[in-house]
Amino acid sequence: PVPKDPPKIHRLDESVVNRIAAGEVIQRPVSAVKELVENSLDAHSTSINVVVKDGGLKLIQVSDDGHGIRYEDLPILCERHTTSKLSTFEDLQSIKSMGFRGEALASMTYVAHVTVTTITEGQLHGYRVSYRDGVMENQPKACAAVKGTQIMIENLFYNMIARRKTLQNSADDYSKIVDLLCRFSIHHINVSFSCRKHGAARADVHSAATSSRLDSIRSVYGVSVARNLMKIEASDSDPSSSVFDMNGFISNSNYIAKKRQWCFLSMVAFDIVTQKVVNSLVEKEYRLVECNALKRALEIVYAATLPKASKPFVYMSIVLPSEHIDVNVHPTKREVSLLNQEIIVEKIQLAVESKLRSSDEAKTFHEQT
Ligand code: ADP
Ligand code: MG
Repeated sequence: PVPKDPPKIHRLDESVVNRIAAGEVIQRPVSAVKELVENSLDAHSTSINVVVKDGGLKLIQVSDDGHGIRYEDLPILCERHTTSKLSTFEDLQSIKSMGFRGEALASMTYVAHVTVTTITEGQLHGYRVSYRDGVMENQPKACAAVKGTQIMIENLFYNMIARRKTLQNSADDYSKIVDLLCRFSIHHINVSFSCRKHGAARADVHSAATSSRLDSIRSVYGVSVARNLMKIEASDSDPSSSVFDMNGFISNSNYIAKKRQWCFLSMVAFDIVTQKVVNSLVEKEYRLVECNALKRALEIVYAATLPKASKPFVYMSIVLPSEHIDVNVHPTKREVSLLNQEIIVEKIQLAVESKLRSSDEAKTFHEQT
């Protein structure tokens, strides 16, 4: 029977609101790693090291050599909406950092135990402090520290039983984290990254800073990938259709990702770069994102040349004017929306198609002569 009185509306407890929001920002261990690494990049780190235990559910630890966090900022560090990166809504137009909402660290404290160790330039010692539900659990304690910041996330989703159960049954979280770090390292080639399981002697990702994208791809994904890559470019500068400049590397039709290789060998990474001229300097902001429309368009092209079930390797860097990109469309910031997306996708698809065709023709010609 349907009750005839409407149910009463009441206000949710703030702690409930915060935990619900946190569960959207931090969907699984890999989302926490992404936020932490982005913070380290925003702090101008040149070396970022990740340690993971139990697929991230027991421990995620990210250490960097960035600028650190001021002592006086520690009390509000993990409150929601506290950030050093954005002050007005208009700033979003020209945002150059990957973070901007001050939600990531706060979210982690609502679904895990967070401990921060940090030291700023010129200090004799660092500070360590733990957080829960947005607030400090104790006064920061002085401690020995090397340059930068180390953030430890323990017992992720300890208070979200269903989420924890689903994740415990899935074995692939560690490989998702490894995959993410591989992408980060070919993306930010001037930063060195490592990722290892807690207690393991060997790192599963270990990239040194380099000056060439192809060298970086070779060192992270191996020679067999790098050997089969072709350079690709496309651009448009007609304001009435689209404005972008793309360059990258795509695999040729000889490249077949073998089944038992790491799944991340078949990857699509899009590096969206926005640029803006500020005081006659071109400032660039790099953002690792997903663009499903582009991914699908490229899959269609490759489906015609590659054997079934095998996937291409694609790395693209797309440069756009910063006012043509909306970074604020998804809670995880994983997706972005581009102005004139359909036109851009179509142009890139055509470029890839013709590149593949001409390389195939060259191959056939070579085989006949
Ligand atoms: P956002 O990145 O959107 O600002 P976060 O919750 O991710 O929000 O981080 C809050 C603030 O904490 C950042 O604005 C930054 O000032 C500081 N912070 C976080 N991680 C680091 C880090 N690894 N090094 C230096 N500062 C950091
Ligand atoms: Mg952040």
